[in-house]
Amino acid sequence: MSRLLLLASFLCAACLHAEDFAQVPMADGFVVPVGQNGKEYYRSRGLRANGHLGEDWNGVGGGDTDLGDAVYSTAHGIVVFARDFRMGWGNVVIIRHAYQEKGREKDAPLFVDSLYGHLLNIAVKEGDIVRRDQRIGSIGNNRGMYEAHLHFEMRKDIRVGMFRNNFPQDSSVYHDPSVFISEHPQFSAKARFAKVPINTFPTQTTTLVAKASPLPPPPSEPTPLRPPSSTLRGGVSFRVDRFSDLRLRE
Ligand SMILES: [Zn+2]
Repeated sequence: MSRLLLLASFLCAACLHAEDFAQVPMADGFVVPVGQNGKEYYRSRGLRANGHLGEDWNGVGGGDTDLGDAVYSTAHGIVVFARDFRMGWGNVVIIRHAYQEKGREKDAPLFVDSLYGHLLNIAVKEGDIVRRDQRIGSIGNNRGMYEAHLHFEMRKDIRVGMFRNNFPQDSSVYHDPSVFISEHPQFSAKARFAKVPINTFPTQTTTLVAKASPLPPPPSEPTPLRPPSSTLRGGVSFRVDRFSDLRLRE
């Protein structure tokens, strides 16, 4: 590819076309992405600016006892990334959500990306519309690199994707996931749709094609109530993941 063409394609990544939007059901609240299976989980590690940019969720049994446990979408949204990114990440799913702050329903929708890392497997495809509490994959350990856990991020900047180094690594880009969830509880509302930008990541190699799919039906099995202990319980921190402060399992 010529240098000019490279430059042109780079510049074009910054501009959105008409097809770079999808009709996506708006979130009716956000939930912790584990525990819908009735098992107990705790937050083993929290958000730290310029360090750990999300939080880690573990089964209370410790070790790899949660390996293969289901991971659920935190809210209705569209899958904008679902693939094996290798390195310290492994299988990653990113879901984009449209939402509104309570009492500001007349304002334009806001957007947030939720990221689920180190998954053992991925149960959704890019372009899929997913509903809150829908299973999107399962807890993994990135090929034995860590003890099994879910790495969970929420980004207010929907351009980050897998290019975290191109963006500030602080609260200007990242929500504290647990704080965000506690501030956006579930509410009952008729399904509303929002026009959501897609293909926003820099140097995204494939163009996402939005499917004109409605919100999938809820699972036929009723979702068991999550135990209260699976919510925002602090835990003993252990260093499991990642790049800047990676410590492999011994
Ligand atoms: Zn983590």
